[in-house]
Amino acid sequence: MTHPRDWLCVRAEGLYCAPGDFFVDPLRPVARAVITHAHSDHARAGHGAVLATAETLALMQTRMGESLAGTALQALAPGERVTLNGATVRLHPAGHVLGSAQVAIEHGGGRAVVSGDYKRAADPTCASFEPVTCDVFITEATFGLPVFTHPPAEREAAKLLDSLRLFPERAHLVGCYALGKTQRLIAVLRELGYDDPIYLHGALIPVCDTYERLGVRLGALLPVAGTAQGEMAGRIVLAPPSALGDRWSRRLPDPVTVMASGWMRVRQRAKARGVELPLVISDHADWPELLATFDDVGAPEVWVTHGEESALIHAAEQRGLVGRALRLIGYGEAAEEEAA
Ligand SMILES: [Zn+2]
Ligand SMILES: [Zn+2]
Repeated sequence: MTHPRDWLCVRAEGLYCAPGDFFVDPLRPVARAVITHAHSDHARAGHGAVLATAETLALMQTRMGESLAGTALQALAPGERVTLNGATVRLHPAGHVLGSAQVAIEHGGGRAVVSGDYKRAADPTCASFEPVTCDVFITEATFGLPVFTHPPAEREAAKLLDSLRLFPERAHLVGCYALGKTQRLIAVLRELGYDDPIYLHGALIPVCDTYERLGVRLGALLPVAGTAQGEMAGRIVLAPPSALGDRWSRRLPDPVTVMASGWMRVRQRAKARGVELPLVISDHADWPELLATFDDVGAPEVWVTHGEESALIHAAEQRGLVGRALRLIGYGEAAEEEAA
């Protein structure tokens, strides 16, 4: 067997598979990219060719539009195998957002899995993470500290409904990322029996439309634009986090400021953003999920792309695994938000 460390390496452009001559989620324009999901820190413009799931390609088209002109797009179904030069590639669900996939790369009898971003908790808007055994598992570590444990999303979403009952005269303004968090929160609210229209900031509408077009039912969604002052009393209004404090929100009657993010576990973050009702809802694996995933994939070696890598690598080593920090700069939730 050839070991993935002999054919998978970090270059300035990102993680590179030499026998396949392609990059996974490259940070700079390359000739051939395999892309795990449509968040802007992973799916960037300017590549010659992109291989991804059909959902990821559709979401990239929604978000990036014209900047994808000139890029050859190739869809790969989950589990389907494709040969790229001297390597074979398969995509497996990552459970992060709609279309998100882990990239399993095989060469010379060795197998590496690049997970991109992932979570293990249930999400009605996307396929669940599928563990794939491998020689090297490449993981994120966004929440790679033992303090990060995410409660069930339903429990957090129920707090929003409780607050609506308590303050029926106030709008409930929820900051959530445009791709993934917004649709998951809506779907969980629907599962909890909330059937009223949910109001959207204009920046969230295109991605919700694409989810609907791809078969994810979100119920009645209406734009906030054009509604009368005061009409949003007792309503749920979703907006990108960047819109929480700006002029836009002043039209809402006495809004309760809500934020849905894994970072809401950190009280100071909620306070700094003026968040009255923090909801700990994350689309990234928490600490127990990261460790459970190491057990499930059975890889003797774990490489960490970004996030809180030291604690996670230490925990991997305590389990008898070889841990390695790749220190890829440019991934992270802040980068995801910027483009939203
Ligand atoms: Zn992501
Ligand atoms: Zn990311």
